[in-house]
Amino acid sequence: MNADTQQRILDAVDAGFDAQLATTKEFVAIPSTRGAEGPCQDMIGDLLRARGYEVDDWHINVDDLKDLRGFGPIEHDFSRARTVVGTYRPPTDGGKSLILQGHCDVVPTGPLDMWETPPFSPTIKDGRMYGRGACDMKSGTIGALYALDAIKAAGFRPTGRIHFQSVIEEESTGVGALSTLQRGYRADACFIPEPTDGKMIRSQVGVIWFRLKVRGFPVHVFEAGAGSNAIMAAYHLIHALEKLEAEWNERAKADRHFKDVAHPINFNPGIIKGGDWASSVPAWCDVDCRIAVLPG
Ligand SMILES: [Zn+2]
Repeated sequence: MNADTQQRILDAVDAGFDAQLATTKEFVAIPSTRGAEGPCQDMIGDLLRARGYEVDDWHINVDDLKDLRGFGPIEHDFSRARTVVGTYRPPTDGGKSLILQGHCDVVPTGPLDMWETPPFSPTIKDGRMYGRGACDMKSGTIGALYALDAIKAAGFRPTGRIHFQSVIEEESTGVGALSTLQRGYRADACFIPEPTDGKMIRSQVGVIWFRLKVRGFPVHVFEAGAGSNAIMAAYHLIHALEKLEAEWNERAKADRHFKDVAHPINFNPGIIKGGDWASSVPAWCDVDCRIAVLPG
């Protein structure tokens, strides 16, 4: 791309930036936690249609996906799960094709009293927007949409096919992205505007979610030594998993993409539940965990 072309596009980005911010705010204001992404998908569909893209908006049928490589089991109500793709077809198909993909699901807010401003009332302060999902990754998704607008506003028309894909379930199973592959969407390249510290990255770790289910031997606390405490046992297992995490990070030092990344493998015990009574040796403890894995 020559400097003049680049400048014209950058100027168009600047010219559209207020509108881009307003759209981002509107998008972040939608509380699209897992299972509640519908209104976000509605909004993306409307934005794509208003711009003249060919819109494919479909309900994800788990049965179509469950035998595919990379499928993660769905245990919650999935009856309203959708994927939305907007396609741009060039007048003459000569250039390389591109997928731009964003996920609209966001992780839970956590304790509301720890937010300075409400998580779904996006607020701009000191040049940053605060709100659940503003960073990961609604600003990226809307940024990609407005980047395409800027190219058009600058008077250019891409010569390759472009699919703009809005998916769900990125924070969990990845089934939303999988649904686009099942539907047949392919391109020469895929760009995902996730917040990766402003850098382009070409490799990403995978994630395993798993649950430790520990069973103890319940006794009254006055004879605790005769029982087996499931919470304490889970605590030992968590420590063992921390050692595994350290071992896998050692192994990552030999990986061609991750050898220069500090601590790429992260283990997180995210939810812990166990026991029924403060004076009973707990008979059970469940710990939901997440650990990363290197590609391959
Ligand atoms: Zn993300």
